[in-house]
Amino acid sequence: MNRPARYRNAHSNYLLDPDGVVAADRHMDFLWALLASLFGLSPPDTPPPADNGSITISLDQPETPGPNSPRIMGGRGANRPLVVLDAGHGGKDPGARSPFSGRPEKDVTLAIARAIRDELVASGRVRVALTRDDDRFLVLRDRYGIARQLGADLFISVHADAAPHNDGARGATIYTLSEVASDREAALLAVQENASDKIGGAALSEDAGVNRILIDLAQRESMNISADFASLLRREASAFFPFRPEYHRFASLIVLKAPDVPSILFETGYLTNAVDAAYIQSDEGRKQIALGMRRAIEAHFARRLINVARR
Ligand code: ZN
Repeated sequence: MNRPARYRNAHSNYLLDPDGVVAADRHMDFLWALLASLFGLSPPDTPPPADNGSITISLDQPETPGPNSPRIMGGRGANRPLVVLDAGHGGKDPGARSPFSGRPEKDVTLAIARAIRDELVASGRVRVALTRDDDRFLVLRDRYGIARQLGADLFISVHADAAPHNDGARGATIYTLSEVASDREAALLAVQENASDKIGGAALSEDAGVNRILIDLAQRESMNISADFASLLRREASAFFPFRPEYHRFASLIVLKAPDVPSILFETGYLTNAVDAAYIQSDEGRKQIALGMRRAIEAHFARRLINVARR
């Protein structure tokens, strides 16, 4: 019988066990066993899931990583927190393009994600994996799907911004999930970034199943932790690279929708601004972004450990 399993919230170590549901299922299991022994009845088959193109976020543990899962690097010991870095776009989805170098965003984001990975691996305090380490196309749900499958404690999607009609716009912005965009610009960004899934041909909608309340609870906790991380990233990294004055925005970004993994989308700077574009495409710029990110990530997990110890 398909039942909502114990639900592990990876970052806070609490177990949501929907006692009522599980107890009812156990009761049904017992009933069916009794009927089977008395009358030779068998339980009804679980109907096949309807293929209506919707995303179903299961409360079951994600499948264990297979041989094709991204490689987890660094960190001494499997109990170290796991950070999944997602280089935005890839393959047939180039993202924005720098009018100066002509480089597509997908190349810029991959180079930055690799620099952050190398910095984290060198430090050794966390484990790290990339959703892609080459020029491949991934639909958005596969990106956060990888984070869930690997049991990630933090998911960071790396992007580069573009404002074709405002070449003065510059600086980094951090997006976290909200159903309501914080402003028009954030709403526009959601349209642009979510278009990656249309390239994959998937029509997306949210599943409204019996597990909705549990998903909402986990999602809310993840959103709070994501917002905490956003302010920490600004605090730790603003010595290394500039942030926009309104550095934290909210948007309904599909890639941030893992209910149980705190997630941010990090716009590193503007490909359409001459200074930003040169900086985020340079070795020195990437190194500084990686250093700021590493400090924020390490501070984040140190803080989480203290919070868990206090409980
Ligand atoms: Zn992007």
